[in-house]
Formats: sequence, C-alpha cells, structure tokens
Amino acid sequence: MESILLIEENAAFARVISAKLHSEAGCHTVTAAGFDEARRLLESGAEDIIMAVTGFSVAGSRDGAAVDYLLSRKIPTIVLCEKYDETIRQRLADKVVVDLLLKRTTEDLNVLAAAVRRVLGNRSLKILLVDDAAPYRVAMREMLETQLYTVIEAADGQEGLDQLEKHPDVKIIVTDYYMPVMDGFEFVTRVRKKHKREKLAIIVLSGAREEDVAAKFLKFGANDFIKKPFSSEEFNWRINLNADHLELMDQLRRTANTDYLTGLLNRRAFYSAAGRLFFEAVAHGQELGVAMLDIDHFKKVNDTHGHDAGDVAIKDLAALLTLHLPAADAIARFGGEEFCVLARGKNPAAVEEMFESARKAVEAAVTRHGDVTFRFTVSIGVCVKPQATLEEAITRADALLYEAKNGGRNRVCAG
Ligand code: GH3
Ligand code: MG
Ligand code: MG
Repeated sequence: MESILLIEENAAFARVISAKLHSEAGCHTVTAAGFDEARRLLESGAEDIIMAVTGFSVAGSRDGAAVDYLLSRKIPTIVLCEKYDETIRQRLADKVVVDLLLKRTTEDLNVLAAAVRRVLGNRSLKILLVDDAAPYRVAMREMLETQLYTVIEAADGQEGLDQLEKHPDVKIIVTDYYMPVMDGFEFVTRVRKKHKREKLAIIVLSGAREEDVAAKFLKFGANDFIKKPFSSEEFNWRINLNADHLELMDQLRRTANTDYLTGLLNRRAFYSAAGRLFFEAVAHGQELGVAMLDIDHFKKVNDTHGHDAGDVAIKDLAALLTLHLPAADAIARFGGEEFCVLARGKNPAAVEEMFESARKAVEAAVTRHGDVTFRFTVSIGVCVKPQATLEEAITRADALLYEAKNGGRNRVCAG
C-alpha cells in the first residue's frame, strides 16, 4: 500500500496528523519518531513511501539532515515548523521541497492535508514547459517532478504546439516569452484559438523589462505571469494555485451538468448535449430515437419501503439503463423518477428492441435497501418517427409514455 512517511517525535501529535491525513487526503501514514527510525524504515523497503512530512530538525537530525536525506531519495517532502522561520526558509531555498508549512493550529493541518492531497492528485496532471533555455527547463522540471507532476518539454512555440497536439491531456503550460522560431506571445495566441482558459492554464515567464508585458499576456490569454528571476517557492505556489483553479472549474462544470443522485446528465445538460446530437444526426441523415421512461407506481415504492429505498431504486435504474442501453448517446434523469434517452444510428425496430430489452432487465432486477428487497417496473415511450426538433421528439415520446401507462404499464410504446 502507498504510504506517507511522517517523522514526528511527539506520538500524540503524530496520531492527530495521521488521522487528519487519513480523513482529508485519504492516505495511509507510517510514523517514525526520529531520523534513524525513518532511515531504517526506508532502507528496509518494507513500505511503499511516496511522500514525506517532517520537521526541519527532528531527533537524530540537526540542520535539516533528514530533509536532505529524503530529497536524495527523491521523495517529495513537506517540511513542518512551529513558526514561519526565516532562517529555515533560507536554508530550504535551494532545496526542492514541496513546501514549508506551519503546524500550530488546526487550520495549519487543513493546509497540510490540502497540500498532500494535491501532490497525490498531481500524478495525473500533465504540464508542458516551453522554453529555449535548457537549464531553465531542467530546473523547472525538477521542481515540478518533486511535486509528482508529469512534465513534457518544448524548446519553442512551434514545438510547444506540436507537443500539445500529441498530448491533448496537458492541463498547464508554462512558457517563456522570447524564443526562436515562435515566441511566447504568438504561441499563447495560437493555443487560445483552440483551448479555453478554464480548461488549460497558461503561465508566462519573462525577464522582459517592458512594463506592459504582463498586462499584454493576461489580456491575450495567459492565466498568470511570473517575472524572472523567481524563487522555487513562488513558482510552486503559482503552479499549485492554477492547478486548484482548474480543478474547481472542473468541479463546477460537473455539478452544473450532472444529477447529484445518479451521476447522469441533468435536464439542462441533456438539452445541450442532445440538441447537438440531434442536429448532427439530422445533418448526416442518421436515424434517431428519443425515449421517455418513468417508474411505475413509484409512489407505492416510497409508501411501502420509504423514501431512501425509493432513492436506491432510482440509482439502480440509472445503472441498469447505462448497462442495457449501450447504444445510447445521452441518458439523463429529467427529475423525480423520469428519465430521457437519445440514441442514434439504429433503425426504428432496433431502437424499440433495445428499449424492450432494457425494460425486461429492469423487471428482472432486484433492488436492495438494508434488509428490504423489492422489484419495480418502468413504462417507456419511444419516438422513432423523424421530427423537426428535439423538443418535438421529446413531446412525442412523452405522449407515447402516457399511452404505455394507460395500456397497463411495464411496456414500451414506440411510434
Ligand atoms: P405512475 O406509474 O403513473 O408513474 O405512478 P407514480 O406513482 O410513479 O407517479 P406519480 O407521479 O404519482 O408519483 C411519483 C412519485 O415519485 C412521487 C414522488 O414523491 C416520488 N419522487 C419524486 N422524486 C423522488 C426522489 O428523488 N426520490 C424518491 N424516493 N421519490 C421521488
Ligand atoms: Mg411514475
Ligand atoms: Mg412521474
């Protein structure tokens, strides 16, 4: 199991930190009371240590020997201290530690947990460095790899564009201004034609003396600007703040578009995604089906087994639909116990058949909530006749759903 090494003499305090890291960063901690124990532990290879948290001076290590040792083993290290000590900061200035943090208050421990969580999350975050000066790239790569970021490089703007093409999962670009072939300004402008600020952050580095350089870059697409020369501490914090911002934007996007209970699209996101799919299908002469589904006598499910059991049924239905409608292009929970599905590229008979098999799967499934088990069924209306708009297809599917309900429920009505 991957673990964090915590070097802390005070056993009670070590327990508090471990508990915090466990609950807030989801990680397992191995504690050593001093430098010797930590070294034995690492050298035994018994634990898979991916990161360390230590004091600057701990038992058996004066003057940061433990920190040096951890860094020599390429272990990302966070240094904790009692107060913001300028001498310690100076001593760490040329070392690539993740950060120097305080350990006085519970808020400090929240900051520590956030830093650990971020470093662990960084492993999936790819950064592109664009700079013609190889020594700068080496130094930045080292700082970023200390925080477990994945790093790729380019020596000018053109190479940067090529790398971005090859690695579409790049989330942050750090670019220099003056470079041969294509300079930072043209590079940023070109990147922004395809990638939005909210999804791909660009940080510009420059030693340029002109006063309006930062403003010019920020206006034309950079998220941030760092003046050369800069400290590793500033560099790390700028990178991390931008990474946090991207994550927050991503979370916002997800919560705005998904239904909290099932994780499916919500009504708003469905209209936006399905609207696009509907248009494309019509434009390419593809066949298309739009279905409305509703749980039968759901009121009775709630009345008999309780509202929480009803929620489990809704979640089960979402999972069943995802599993049994492999050809669906968009599945949404429209609200309550009502779902909407759009599927392209199948003829009417095949669409009807697909929903019929989904109906059977729901009928056969057993829902479990605590000790209670129960079954439920769904009625489905499927619009397979060509319609002018998505809204009209949904209205027709709704009318067919009504027919299915009136016809005795637990059935598919297509037309
Ligand atoms: P029908 O077969 O005609 O669809 O009957 P029904 O009982 O399913 O339909 P009705 O629209 O009368 O009732 C729907 C019920 O669904 C009422 C409401 O309390 C319940 N419901 C709506 N949203 C949720 C939810 O998120 N969780 C739970 N547990 N129940 C919900
Ligand atoms: Mg219902
Ligand atoms: Mg209903």
